[in-house]
Amino acid sequence: MAKHLLILGPQASGKGTQASMLAQELNIRHIGMGERLREEAASGSRLGRVIKAHIDKGELVPDELTCKMILREIERAPRGCILDGFPRNIEQAEFLDKNVGVDTVIVLTLSDKTAIERIGGRRECPKGHDYHLKYNPPKRQGVCDIDGLPLQQRSDDIPAAIKKRLQLYHEQTEPVIEHYRSKVITIDGEAPIPDVHLAILKALHHKKERR
Ligand code: AMP
Repeated sequence: MAKHLLILGPQASGKGTQASMLAQELNIRHIGMGERLREEAASGSRLGRVIKAHIDKGELVPDELTCKMILREIERAPRGCILDGFPRNIEQAEFLDKNVGVDTVIVLTLSDKTAIERIGGRRECPKGHDYHLKYNPPKRQGVCDIDGLPLQQRSDDIPAAIKKRLQLYHEQTEPVIEHYRSKVITIDGEAPIPDVHLAILKALHHKKERR
């Protein structure tokens, strides 16, 4: 049966990086909601313009759009998937429970102070490959290792939007952790990337053995 994992955590807690490592390890699909939305925004479509306006202000994109998009993506993952950036509020969690079901929820913890520090050094290529100037630098300065494109700062990684996004995380996404409390694995997101990855694998293994 297809496995559906969630990874939750504040901005810059490493959700995208860890989800992509785990997806490879477990041979399931990594679905990044933020990345999907940014792709749509970059397409310049009418829908993309609506999405971009929300993203740039650090607001959530309306549920009717994100729910429809996520379901389409999950349907393309018959072996299962790890969702990064969805659900971000209780309504989205209830939508997921009704349509798909959730096996395990990985929560990465991070202080606001570290989140703000990390966001400042974050860079990505136009195709969504993520880097950090200090913690995960590209081999050649300013250029994506994978496709050679110039790296840039995200339009919502600016102080006003960051503040709003962290506030929304505390107000709307933290209740989602409580909603899934019996399925949650909590991992310290302050640790280096390989250590977080190992801690997740260990916790998943431990959970499987307990069943
Ligand atoms: P992220 O890359 O996960 O930090 O997401 C970037 C932005 O995309 C967020 O600040 C929101 O504007 C939007 N977004 C991502 N995921 C969701 C979601 N599940 N619901 C609504 N908006 C979202």
